[in-house]
Amino acid sequence: MPVRDWALWKRPRRWITYTLTTEAITLALTIWAALYFSVTDQQIGTYALLAGLGVLQAEISRKIERARRSLNVTPHISMTSVWMLPGILLLPPQLIALLSFTLYMHLGIRTWFGLRNVDPHRTATNATTVILTCFIANLVTHALFGADPMNATPGVAAGAVCVAGAMYFLVNTAITGGGLYLAAPEKASVKRIVGTWDDNLLDLATLCLGGMMVMAIINQPLMGLVMFVPMFVMQRSVLAKQLEELASTDQKTGLLNATAWHHRGNQELSRASRTGGEFSVMMIDLDYFKKINDTYGHLAGDDMLIALADLLKRETRAHDLVGRFGGEEFVVLLAGASELEAVVAAERLRMLITELVVHSNTNDGEAVVISDRSASIGVAAYPEAGQTLDEVLASADAAVYVAKESGRNRVVGVATRDTVAATPG
Ligand code: GH3
Ligand code: MG
Ligand code: MG
Repeated sequence: MPVRDWALWKRPRRWITYTLTTEAITLALTIWAALYFSVTDQQIGTYALLAGLGVLQAEISRKIERARRSLNVTPHISMTSVWMLPGILLLPPQLIALLSFTLYMHLGIRTWFGLRNVDPHRTATNATTVILTCFIANLVTHALFGADPMNATPGVAAGAVCVAGAMYFLVNTAITGGGLYLAAPEKASVKRIVGTWDDNLLDLATLCLGGMMVMAIINQPLMGLVMFVPMFVMQRSVLAKQLEELASTDQKTGLLNATAWHHRGNQELSRASRTGGEFSVMMIDLDYFKKINDTYGHLAGDDMLIALADLLKRETRAHDLVGRFGGEEFVVLLAGASELEAVVAAERLRMLITELVVHSNTNDGEAVVISDRSASIGVAAYPEAGQTLDEVLASADAAVYVAKESGRNRVVGVATRDTVAATPG
């Protein structure tokens, strides 16, 4: 593919500058290190051992890793730190760079090749991020624990492993986070940039295996093979978690899909019925949504749905269940809320929807602004509106119908229908 057609150039300019600068600094440091540091035969042997084990392990888990990558969720979890951590402690910088290069070239060619969402430049970026991370971790570790900490006292060796691991974690998160931020500053959130608890725990677990690998490499290199088993199981559990997430979310908006919403909703119902509690369901249907599609095209319609989903997620509590049942129908279960409380919440949401401004594009790429939209919201509560989740949902659905019939842009509750009918804004 000609250089000018690379997917790299389609990314935001700030991101391109950041990435190319990082790559240039890493390359310059690697060349400098190659000229400045000498390499012993033993270090070359350690490099060969780490590269060999890393390649072998990647071959064993190739199918899992390929499946995992093709799902394109939590893409930054990687097993390479198991090999890079020993590299930080036992190798000079130029061999650290060569180790990362070897592992990522192998992954890029054997495992990720041809996957839609792994461009070659992404593999190159990952490899350079790891090299730069290891350079900094290597520098700090040697500054604190001396030139050869692994041959010093057990306390110094253990301290060096911990500091190298902690530095790897922090520096890697910082460099990757900077890139993620610049790729889409408007979408920036702690979760997006730093990752979820689970992602970070996995990174830590991988680093712990890396720490054990250091000991194995120094004392019993063949014991490195034993680590393949936990690594394989960890990779498989990440895949399982990703599949679970995929099976329960609506791909367009990231909200719960109908199956997952019903599952969690029924858990809420069991809890409420056991404890004599209550909960409410809101059904939200955009008014004249078809007009957006007809006027601006489907892509603009999709952006409106995504904006509404974000609004609902942002404006509800973490334990409320926000779902999309397909089309432009959204449902929110408010745990512990009476119908009156839910009607008040729905009224607030209705107002916020009328204030929503969405920037989008027509199918031809022309910029459009969607505003002054509204929604009709039906509210029903358990146990008044029904004994099962489907009965409560059907009541909320009937309330939406009443809201539409009586002029749209309003909230209608089942029991409070006559008393609380909001005036159109
Ligand atoms: P009303 O006020 O009566 O709710 O009118 P409406 O146009 O919102 O409702 P209607 O149910 O007639 O139309 C819903 C439209 O939503 C029809 C369909 O083309 C569109 N739609 C369904 N799913 C999607 C989607 O995922 N993306 C986009 N862009 N449009 C969708
Ligand atoms: Mg509608
Ligand atoms: Mg509809």
